Amino acid sequence: MTPALTDAQISAAATLKPIAVVGKDAGIPDEALIPYGRSMAKVEVRALPQQAGRNGRVVLVTGISPTPAGEGKTTVTVGLVDGMNVLAGREDAPAQVAGSVTMAALREPSLGPVFGKKGGATGGGHAQVAPMEQINLHFTGDFHAITSAHNLLCALIDNHIHQGNELGIDPRTITVKRALDVNDRSLRHTVIGLGGKAQGVPRENGFEITVATETMAVFCLARDLTDLKERLGRITVGQTFGGEPVTAGMIGPNGAQGAMAVLLKDALNPNLVQTLGGSAALVHGGPFANIAHGCNSVMATRTAQRLADWVVTEAGFGADLGGEKFMDITAPAGGFEPAVSVVVATVRALKLQGGMTLAEVQAGADAAVSAGDAGAAERHLQALEAGVVNLQRHVENMRRFGVPVVVAVNRFGQDTDAELAWLRGWCEHHEIPVAVADVWAQGGKGAVELARRVVEVVEQAEAVRAEAEARMADAAALLTTEDPHEVPGWAPLYPADLPVAHKIETIVEQIYRGARVEYAPLARRQLAELEAAGLDRLPVCMAKTPYSFSDDPSVLGAPQGFTVTVREVVARTGAGFVVVLTGNVMTMPGLPASPAADQMDVGVDGTVTGLF
Ligand code: ADP
Ligand code: MG
Repeated sequence: MTPALTDAQISAAATLKPIAVVGKDAGIPDEALIPYGRSMAKVEVRALPQQAGRNGRVVLVTGISPTPAGEGKTTVTVGLVDGMNVLAGREDAPAQVAGSVTMAALREPSLGPVFGKKGGATGGGHAQVAPMEQINLHFTGDFHAITSAHNLLCALIDNHIHQGNELGIDPRTITVKRALDVNDRSLRHTVIGLGGKAQGVPRENGFEITVATETMAVFCLARDLTDLKERLGRITVGQTFGGEPVTAGMIGPNGAQGAMAVLLKDALNPNLVQTLGGSAALVHGGPFANIAHGCNSVMATRTAQRLADWVVTEAGFGADLGGEKFMDITAPAGGFEPAVSVVVATVRALKLQGGMTLAEVQAGADAAVSAGDAGAAERHLQALEAGVVNLQRHVENMRRFGVPVVVAVNRFGQDTDAELAWLRGWCEHHEIPVAVADVWAQGGKGAVELARRVVEVVEQAEAVRAEAEARMADAAALLTTEDPHEVPGWAPLYPADLPVAHKIETIVEQIYRGARVEYAPLARRQLAELEAAGLDRLPVCMAKTPYSFSDDPSVLGAPQGFTVTVREVVARTGAGFVVVLTGNVMTMPGLPASPAADQMDVGVDGTVTGLF
């Protein structure tokens, strides 16, 4: 049954363990736990025991092309963590999971979507991380710290120019924009320094949302404080009048990275919270997946790996965006190999991909039948059948990275039994391991089947791998030239030394399945500049609409033969990737006609309403 309560009400009604207990259960010593109130804490990574820990397997949760409301990757991630922990305690648990500990590694929500359209990012129903109100709002202040550090860099650059511009920075070439974690389209293009000589040097500038900044990307890819500082120092801020690159490390006598890191040092420690099922979760960092690399911090995932046997983490938007970037950017930067990927699918999003309107799929077939539309059930099923090509392609794509795939059908109240049975049957027919997850209504209990599937496919893959490794060892011992076959397992899509343009084409052809890439004149010039600067071998971070495989959000299903237009190509030398802007994707979103903010309020007793 669908609970009538909102996510906020369910979260508020839950009894949470004191955070010290969560920390103790997770094996975090007291001296490494810095409580932020009753239910949240920072984990001081430096104070954790030095040994390698449990080296948890990484489970990546990704998804099909979503509807604008989101298809429940965070919800399924949280539910799966609780489901794995439920399964671990059962007598019939498979060996790989019996008695084991599973932990979540998730992104922190951005205020942009919270007050805009999509909503929060703490999961939903009985599959949430808590306390949802704090996590969705200011949490432990990380995003404020990141915004401040980023804006400090901007201020130092403009001050350098104002104070005589020793480096000869050409103000027209500055690529670092100011940051704000609010959707505000009127700040996309600004002019600063107006008002006369004492007010700085006038120039064009603009704002990006914090989750699209390079400081956020650096924060999430850094392995420790030293790595953070090095990456911050490498951020390219613009060029000199002579066309030479200027980095953050060149601003001031010691570079800007030291002062930026001062603002970030506490934030860099991952945040510990709990799921409603009582599992530990590290929630840390939060780049968007359409305009940035889309995954929680490497610090959080690596810390979770030390503390748990299984780590479930989410990459934003569909597998074409967050999924691909996880495999090609995050995993190499973090030094971890995903063991399995879970592709979240919903009946509603597949119907949308099959040509139905959003309003129709949100209402569901039963509602239409009750309203007197006798043919609705059949039409809904046909739309589902037409849209399943989208799921098929995402599964094929994720398999390309060498890891096994499990489909998690995230069950919604309006899904009919016939629709769920059809989708399950389709997966089984195509030999794709599948489970229906009912985590929104049931929490971890609703993900036990999914947990089993995940453990089973990992067990199988590990057996195949062990056999291949043994074959390799034999072949080496016998010094035979016979091809022992490659050892299966995670591998990125493209070799690291491929030029950027080829990497873009590889992604477009093999993941999106487009026919060609067209470059706008600006992008062409930027590609040439990258080559001249020796930066044309970096990984690429595609910025693309999440709603279609193509760069046009209205093209649904599994399109082929389309052209992807690259507008701009920007080197993010601190993050260590090149951002490739396609279509109309913006790095500062706007608010919709009726933003979520319109419904929010706080009562005299401090109770917040309207927060989902
Ligand atoms: P994603 O991480 O894929 O963007 P979320 O997990 O954040 O998606 O879910 C998006 C929204 O949908 C949330 O408000 C969540 O409460 C809601 N939701 C997710 N799964 C379900 C479900 N099975 N039934 C009802 N609502 C759900
Ligand atoms: Mg999410």
